[in-house]
This record gives sequence, structure tokens and C-alpha cells, in this order.
Amino acid sequence: MTVKEATVTVRKITRIGEERCDGCGPCVSPCAEGAIEIVNGKAKKREGG
Ligand code: SF4
Repeated sequence: MTVKEATVTVRKITRIGEERCDGCGPCVSPCAEGAIEIVNGKAKKREGG
């Protein structure tokens, strides 16, 4: 009997606290997947990503 090993990748998903966000923007460009944008002065996850 052989035992197969599986590799599992666990990624942290950032939660944006809209009530605390002041739209200052430094979170946008560091996101490697371009998943954050500023909409109406608040950071938002891009739709459809
Ligand atoms: S724009 Fe980004 S860095 Fe600025 S407060 Fe909102 S979440 Fe934080």
C-alpha cells in the first residue's frame, strides 16, 4: 500500500474593516493580485477577481 502526500496551500484572506477605513490607500498597490481599490473613499475588494 502506498501513501500519497497532498500539498495544501492555506492563504490568509484580508478582511477590510470598512468602519475603520479612511481611504488613505497604502493597501492598494502592495496587493499582488490587484484585489483592492478605493471606492467612494473606502477600500473595497474588486468584484469578479
Ligand atoms: S485605505 Fe487601506 S490602508 Fe487606508 S485605512 Fe483603508 S484599508 Fe487601511
